[in-house]
Amino acid sequence: MARYTGPVCKLCRREGEKLFLKGARCLSPKCSVERRSYPPGQHGKDASFRRGRGSDYSLQLREKQKARRIYGILERQFRRYFREALRRPGLTGSNLLSILETRLDNVVYRMGWADSRNHARQLVQHGHISVNGRRTNIPSYLVYPGDVITIREGSKGRQYFKELGLYMAERPPAPEWLAVDVAAMKGVIERLPERRDVSDIPLNEQLIVEYYSR
Ligand code: SF4
Repeated sequence: MARYTGPVCKLCRREGEKLFLKGARCLSPKCSVERRSYPPGQHGKDASFRRGRGSDYSLQLREKQKARRIYGILERQFRRYFREALRRPGLTGSNLLSILETRLDNVVYRMGWADSRNHARQLVQHGHISVNGRRTNIPSYLVYPGDVITIREGSKGRQYFKELGLYMAERPPAPEWLAVDVAAMKGVIERLPERRDVSDIPLNEQLIVEYYSR
């Protein structure tokens, strides 16, 4: 599946807030949002280009773009997720976030095995991750309650995974819906994530629902 390969800090600057796309750098003074807090591009500094409140449409569009950028998804697949969220029972916005959270690359990131979702995506694509004992290299693979995520046996000897415990100690703890066993390099999906489990994501999912309901 295709993905955005351009400079990611530009995406944060376009949204006017930190989207935490680069791991440790996002918490350092090198963060581009802190150093250049204006939109990217030739006219980013122009007063006429400065952000106002915007129309309802622009607010909805920006929220949708922000969600896509946080999870690293292109438009067509995001729209597919929205259709799936509509199909599921319950609130469409919460369903959408639940689907996004259960992507395999996001789960690897949430378990603390990667510094960012991009890094997690790379670990998955390089074949280091197994789901229920089967090597799975598709970042968009959706996991369900009861699924067991492990580091593949052949990858456990790699330096990065040998030191994984040290890295994990510096990263945010895994959310409640994931049970992580650091020593066994294993994580189990306890349940589907709910809206309250995604409180660290600065999104108003209702605006995304409105965007696609126009
Ligand atoms: Fe965004 Fe992180 Fe780059 Fe800062 S360092 S602009 S939070 S990706």
